Amino acid sequence: MSVLTFGETMAALRADGPIRLGGGMRLSVAGAESNVAIGLARLGHRVRWAGLVGDDETGELVLRTLRAEGVDLTHARADRRGPTGLVLFERRVGELTRVIYHRAGSAASFLSPGDVLPALDPAPALLHVTGVTPALGPGPAEAVRAAVASGVPVCLDVNHRARLWDRATAAATLRPLASALTVVVASDDELDLVAPAAATTERDRVAALLDAGVREVVVKRGADGATGHTATETVDVPARRVRVADVVGAGDAFVAGYLSGMLDDLDLSGRLERAVTVGAFAVASTGDWEGLPTRSELGLLDSLPGSVIR
Ligand code: ATP
Repeated sequence: MSVLTFGETMAALRADGPIRLGGGMRLSVAGAESNVAIGLARLGHRVRWAGLVGDDETGELVLRTLRAEGVDLTHARADRRGPTGLVLFERRVGELTRVIYHRAGSAASFLSPGDVLPALDPAPALLHVTGVTPALGPGPAEAVRAAVASGVPVCLDVNHRARLWDRATAAATLRPLASALTVVVASDDELDLVAPAAATTERDRVAALLDAGVREVVVKRGADGATGHTATETVDVPARRVRVADVVGAGDAFVAGYLSGMLDDLDLSGRLERAVTVGAFAVASTGDWEGLPTRSELGLLDSLPGSVIR
């Protein structure tokens, strides 16, 4: 297995207008880590997702979807202690999307180290975790701590969810993990949640993380692209220019592209190029993961706008 990831994947309902007015919704699934898993699987990597869904129909939908995308589910299972979580996406005005969670007490909030540690045997080349999982409850937080301490190379995407926990609690949970991380991915306004409090500028935060032993720090800047830092180089890449359809999931797609570049042994520029390319696919298509590219589609964005591929 190249990559192990774990976390909560929910049923996702998307409304085109205000939910309180009713009308139709489209049903799919969404979860930061499973979005990354699908992105990697589409690019041809061997990836495993571990986690709990409810023993219900939406749980079946989650498992069926991941299985259909080629994600290994040996360590995923249904659990009766809670239902599968639910997330509602409401297109409010223009490109602004409002996200509403119904995930408190979900099956995934009962995740514990015992659910994920067996999935690390045999050890994957890389473990990917996000800051969403420790926000789900004490068991999931313990699962993240235990997995990060297992000694495999770890990528953490800070992925702060203000609806789940406050910044102080997130920082108190994530900062102690830093020295065990190989790759840190964060938006520019999230770096302080994993870097030491004493560092007050982006530059200082990146330097402090590299000093703590992190090998690569990647800062996402939305439509302004991203910056990658290692001990020896800093590389800026612009975002790909695409027409925005739905920005939700861009960060997860970006991570899938970055990790794919790592697994393919691309250099820092190559990793970032693949990351912004996969991120752009997510932005230019509707849904968290539905529009992510296969390996043979990676070059599609180089086609001229309006061209038809026959
Ligand atoms: P989300 O939480 O919605 O998944 P995020 O805040 O984690 O997103 P962003 O920084 O918004 O992540 O986006 C990640 C990457 O996706 C960016 O670095 C960029 O490469 C790409 N991206 C985001 N927005 C755009 C855009 N409007 N046009 C092109 N690429 C974009």
